[in-house]
Amino acid sequence: MSVKDLIYATAKAGGLFPWAQQKTRDGLCILCYHGLSFTDEHQFRPKLFITPELFRQRMQYLKRSGYTALSLDEALERLQHARLKEKELVITIDDGFYSIAALAAPILKEVGFTATIYVTTYYVERNNPIFRLALQYLFWKTPLNALDCIGLPNDGRNSCPTRGAAADTLLWQLIDVGEARLNEVGRMALAREVARRLEVDFDELVSSRRLSLMSEAEVAKLAEQGFDIQLHTHRHQLPVDPVAARRELHDNRVVLRPLCERPLRHLCYPSGIWSKQLWPVLAAEGVATATTCLPGRNYASTPRLGLKRFLDFQTLPSVIFEAEVSGFSEILRRLAGRAELSR
Ligand SMILES: [Zn+2]
Repeated sequence: MSVKDLIYATAKAGGLFPWAQQKTRDGLCILCYHGLSFTDEHQFRPKLFITPELFRQRMQYLKRSGYTALSLDEALERLQHARLKEKELVITIDDGFYSIAALAAPILKEVGFTATIYVTTYYVERNNPIFRLALQYLFWKTPLNALDCIGLPNDGRNSCPTRGAAADTLLWQLIDVGEARLNEVGRMALAREVARRLEVDFDELVSSRRLSLMSEAEVAKLAEQGFDIQLHTHRHQLPVDPVAARRELHDNRVVLRPLCERPLRHLCYPSGIWSKQLWPVLAAEGVATATTCLPGRNYASTPRLGLKRFLDFQTLPSVIFEAEVSGFSEILRRLAGRAELSR
């Protein structure tokens, strides 16, 4: 147990979490998740994928402890009018992985929680694993120590190690070539060829949809079930160039609009990258709120285009999760002066 874990465990045992809950009741906690894991995705990317077992544990903890998950609209309305009650929070899920429809939604329904699901749409329209994620997974998964590079688009080497700095360089060369010069058919052919050479079963990766997003029909079904489907750009990028940013929002909306009835006015910044420079553009495009990956609670005065969230992930100790939702971590941030300065 680390010193930090020990401090949190002692605070919990000393009854400080309910006290913190009271003290931070004017702030809204927004939780952030991404995908759930079918097999080993949580070992590949513990901050991106969480096992269904742990996700269920977290949701059951919240339920058992008296927390309620509100829709983002409802929570922000209550925050604005000082009507937010203790233990009311928001659950957000980024990207729109297939595992959310298959694994997370049933768990959320079990405990009666709603969630906002931010969906990036390029891969919703294509039943393929996300190219850059798939290539990274292949390098992580391979049992081989070296990749035969002959004929691959790289810097001319015949062979490359599959781990370490040289492997990372090659991996990103392949990703860059795929994203800049190939179309989707070419990208999948390249990923399949790399998988063959790395001895990873690409057909299984495709058919299991472990690194794929939901289809349009699956997104529509979640919307029908009451989940709030919202914006996450079309190509998972939000350039600072206003024209390109508008195109991302427009293309994202074109796909999502027929799938859900609620207005598309909440955005999650892709990869947590954001700039205040874009706020006037977002506001003009009808984006009322946007979530970042900055940790902390949100207050009536928090800019709605810079909402804070807490990322829960596979290797996060339960006590840290409990400290965050109780507000104890926020008290520590306030003591450190950071929360006060940014309010
Ligand atoms: Zn994302």
